Amino acid sequence: MTGRPASAGARRPVAVVPHTHWDREWYDPFQTYRLKLVRLIDDLLDLMERDSSYTHFLLDGQLAVIDDYLEIRPENEGRLRALAAAGRITVGPWYILMDEFLVSGETIVRNLQKGILRGAAFGGVMEVGYLPDMFGHVAQMPQILDQAGLGHTVVWRGVPSPVERTAFVWSAPDGSSVRAEYLVAGYGNGAALPEDAKHLVRRLAALEDEFAEFLTDGEPMLLMNGSDHLRPQPWLGRVVTEANAQQDEFELSISSLSDYLAGRTRDGLVEWRGELRSGYRSNILMGVGSNRVDVKQAASRAERSLEQLAEPLSALFVPADRWPAPFLDLAWTLMVRNSAHDSICACSADDVVDAVLHRYAEARHLGDGLTEQALHTIGRSMASAGPVLVNPTFRERSGMVDVVVPAVGEAGPHVQVLSERSGLPGSITLDGETVRNMLGLLQGARIDDEAYVTDVSLAEDETGLDVTLVIGPEPREGVPVEEIKRELYSRLSARPDLEVRLTIDQPPIRRELARQVAVPGFGWHRFTPAPLAHPVRLEGDRDSGLTLTNDLLTVTVDPVSGTFSLDGVPGYGRLVDDGDHGDTYNYSPPASDTVVDRPASVVVAAGESGPVRATVEIAATYAWPEYVDGNSHSRVGSKDVTVHTVLELRADEPAVRVRSRFTNPSRDHRLRTHLPLPERATSSRAECAFTVVERGLTAEGRPGEFGLPTFPSRRFVQAGGLTVVHEGLLEYELVDVVDRPDGTGPAAGALALTLLRATGMLSRLGMSLRPLPAGPMNALDGPQMLGPVDVTYALAVSEVDPFDLADDILVPLQVTSSFGGGHRPDRGAALTVEGARVSSVRRNAGALEVRVFNPADDETTVDLPGRSGWLVDLRGRPVEPFEGSFPLRPHGIATARLDPG
Ligand SMILES: [Zn+2]
Repeated sequence: MTGRPASAGARRPVAVVPHTHWDREWYDPFQTYRLKLVRLIDDLLDLMERDSSYTHFLLDGQLAVIDDYLEIRPENEGRLRALAAAGRITVGPWYILMDEFLVSGETIVRNLQKGILRGAAFGGVMEVGYLPDMFGHVAQMPQILDQAGLGHTVVWRGVPSPVERTAFVWSAPDGSSVRAEYLVAGYGNGAALPEDAKHLVRRLAALEDEFAEFLTDGEPMLLMNGSDHLRPQPWLGRVVTEANAQQDEFELSISSLSDYLAGRTRDGLVEWRGELRSGYRSNILMGVGSNRVDVKQAASRAERSLEQLAEPLSALFVPADRWPAPFLDLAWTLMVRNSAHDSICACSADDVVDAVLHRYAEARHLGDGLTEQALHTIGRSMASAGPVLVNPTFRERSGMVDVVVPAVGEAGPHVQVLSERSGLPGSITLDGETVRNMLGLLQGARIDDEAYVTDVSLAEDETGLDVTLVIGPEPREGVPVEEIKRELYSRLSARPDLEVRLTIDQPPIRRELARQVAVPGFGWHRFTPAPLAHPVRLEGDRDSGLTLTNDLLTVTVDPVSGTFSLDGVPGYGRLVDDGDHGDTYNYSPPASDTVVDRPASVVVAAGESGPVRATVEIAATYAWPEYVDGNSHSRVGSKDVTVHTVLELRADEPAVRVRSRFTNPSRDHRLRTHLPLPERATSSRAECAFTVVERGLTAEGRPGEFGLPTFPSRRFVQAGGLTVVHEGLLEYELVDVVDRPDGTGPAAGALALTLLRATGMLSRLGMSLRPLPAGPMNALDGPQMLGPVDVTYALAVSEVDPFDLADDILVPLQVTSSFGGGHRPDRGAALTVEGARVSSVRRNAGALEVRVFNPADDETTVDLPGRSGWLVDLRGRPVEPFEGSFPLRPHGIATARLDPG
């Protein structure tokens, strides 16, 4: 029938795993898909209860589909649990099938923990780290899975050419590894199986032929019977039985993924260490890192707010019994939902991206609000009055702070006065109605960020009412503003004609910038301006060029090109705008491109002049083509756009901060800033989940998807002596690649950081770099990103620790204020961690839990002075106890649960 001889006596086992791949939101919105999901699971429950030959169903490795279903059909929870307990429906281990590169390592871990926790209600999760559709895989995934006790994974995209079998051993940089089943033909290789047994056998033979090179004799085949949003096939049990009876080449069985993998060994498998980002056999869709930059920015802001502010500050400074678990759980649910590969990747309908942005905003609002509460708790507990600086990171550090203080005497030489408000004592007489309206505008005691009502009083005599407001630079606890307002309203209701004399008493205040003396890691310090070792100054004039320098870094603006030099190396900030006739998944240049890389005009202006902060403003006006014409495949039209860039240098800091703002007027284009490398480079080092990955100048691809060497970085990337820290600008590429004259091969001269990639199609056919569509060919407005764009990054060209710099740029010291009278001394720390990077500090089941990782190539000792506890795995199971410190292998991740202390 198939023309191939059956090997004597041995039938090839074929494991059929029925499943569906459920993108929760994608080219249709969540609720649209859920209508279909509910019908699918309704039918699935009926089918499995009715037909015992339909033995297994894989619910896509993610618990979200179950919660989405039960929200509509709570009455069916018992039926689902029964089928899950019987091992027929497998759930988890993930809560959602996330993208791995565009979200933080913590988001990946929380996703897995949430899945495992929720899965316990259904008899436990599938013990397989199922990763069917992610657009490539991060280097540390094997370690994450291993620490959750998962020895197997299943992958499709990103697997590189050296893997030539249907499985390999996948290792993380620390050496931990999992067995990876490789779905060469994807998670839908057995989708839509025919009802007729003869046709099914023919299909199997064709598959076997197609993938013969991957299969050894007698090796089982894995047939994934499902695909995107596909429903179960009720005839499966029957057709499998009939097919087995008809022939002796294949031995089919309906299986669970974990049963199938339980019998598979690692023996003889090739090992691959590190990330999986190859397009050698399937698309990795690397352009998702740069579409919808607003989504990526929103993600990094929300991650920072929760992981680096709200959690550590609440864990360390709010009493344990007030740990805000319900708020944080809600925030993390929003983050985890958004991490779904089609959600954070923004290769989705505009309505979906609106929902994603809304979830990120809510998660950030929760994080920011909890941060504010924790800071207030610190402020209230201080013994002395005045501003207090709080360091939410583990490393002792100083930094620029912006504080409001009473204006007593002259400002010192090490501070920079931003504004002064002179004293405002005075009394006015108003009618009752005016006062009522005025006080109605006062919400609590806050007037603005620099002025708060610190005392209020009310007195009445036969001539009228006297209201006195005392105003100060910082909020004070317990000011009875609302009580006085109520009292005033009731007296005015009784006597509407009362005259009201309002007296405002405001002492002079000053808003100033200073460099705070070092604040301990996870600690606090009363506001104390430090002497500036390297004050910053602004020199030159706008015609010859303005210079910012603090002797650690010198930044000079070229008034003609609008670019700037760093320590004499010119050409930073050159904006290169080219056409993009691609889609949300991939950049693809139009057949005939027009590249705009110089402005029509430039205006440079001096800003602040130091000594704490100095700035220069550059307004560069360009004529960008308007859009790509679909017929001529070229950029047409012209739109003027002015890009406003502020360069900022601070005292005692080695990096220049860059913020560019413009209103994007054009469609179908990509805007990148080109950053010269002080030395030519053959590789880059970029932050990725729990590590730094090194990448070369090329990427593996194939005719179906060009191996464009644009790569993602989480918060920073380094190459050739340049360090770039950014907020949500995830895509970079080493460019200006030329062969070095000494014959040592090609090297890059610059790093291009993508600021914007604007496209009008979810997916497209016939693109130069990816000819076949990767999703529906739907036109979209959102990804064109017309309107305001606001991007920030920072650059250093001296030797810096990129993790330190990223914290300094992105997680500044936090300011709160105190009126004194508490117990807390002027300086202290709530927790000391040394020797590794801290990824998370939170409370878990009441205990303080600290997760660290070691990005170095050498073993380290993690010191937690005065603390003891247990190292635990990612399921919270104890691994070993520690007392004060523990060793951590190179690139290792460790979670420590601390004893109360
Ligand atoms: Zn998918």
